[in-house]
Amino acid sequence: MRIELATRPGDPQRPNEDFVSVALPAGGHGGVLVLLDGVTPPPADTGCTHGVPWFTSRLGGALLELCAARRELTLAACLAEAIARTAAAHHESCDLSHVRTPQATVVAARWDEERVEHLVLSDSALLIEHQDGSVTPVLDGRIEALAALGPVTDGQRNAEGGFFTAAADPAVVARAVTGTTPRTDVRALAALTDGAARWVEMFGEGSWQDCVGVLRKEGPDALIDRVRAVEAADPDGGAFRRWKRHDDAAAAFVEP
Ligand SMILES: [Zn+2]
Repeated sequence: MRIELATRPGDPQRPNEDFVSVALPAGGHGGVLVLLDGVTPPPADTGCTHGVPWFTSRLGGALLELCAARRELTLAACLAEAIARTAAAHHESCDLSHVRTPQATVVAARWDEERVEHLVLSDSALLIEHQDGSVTPVLDGRIEALAALGPVTDGQRNAEGGFFTAAADPAVVARAVTGTTPRTDVRALAALTDGAARWVEMFGEGSWQDCVGVLRKEGPDALIDRVRAVEAADPDGGAFRRWKRHDDAAAAFVEP
């Protein structure tokens, strides 16, 4: 088994809002990968006194624990419970109905001897490398489809016809992309927040298959180095238009 994780803030002056973790639960029958990208709010009220890093750490920690300890629950059921648990931790002090209440993208994968389950919500990516070397990217394409039509707005957040993130409503799990792959057909798994997936999606430095190749040969930290190098060569966004010069980046690579 090989497991490598890396994460780096987009701006060293600001807290990293990405969360990446792997658990190998007691019993020795497999593992769990959880990766979240906290959605950075505009500098305005969010209705929450805790902030995005608090929320993302709570949600990620709860999801990891539930996926590891409650194997009888689907990943979607684990995410619903993790959202409910996190909401319960601050519903008395904060306005969780606020449209900018802390929220996050979610990738979860869980494997045992027989199968690999996956769940993706919003714009972080899960890559499944098959035994023949082909790579299936598991993506929730809603934001990308909306962005192709025009600027994405707050009004499209967790609204019908818009895009969905894990915030305070457990019902959002019905919007997640989920599936199962036979364990014998999986050679590796990779998870990327969009700050790392830029290497493929924004900069076109290679395909998803190339990205898995970099992760295997050089590791997640080197993939983030490569992203930062492209960004440094285009400091003003002349070649690649982007909201943030650098974004928080996290990547995980697992050969289960
Ligand atoms: Zn709060």
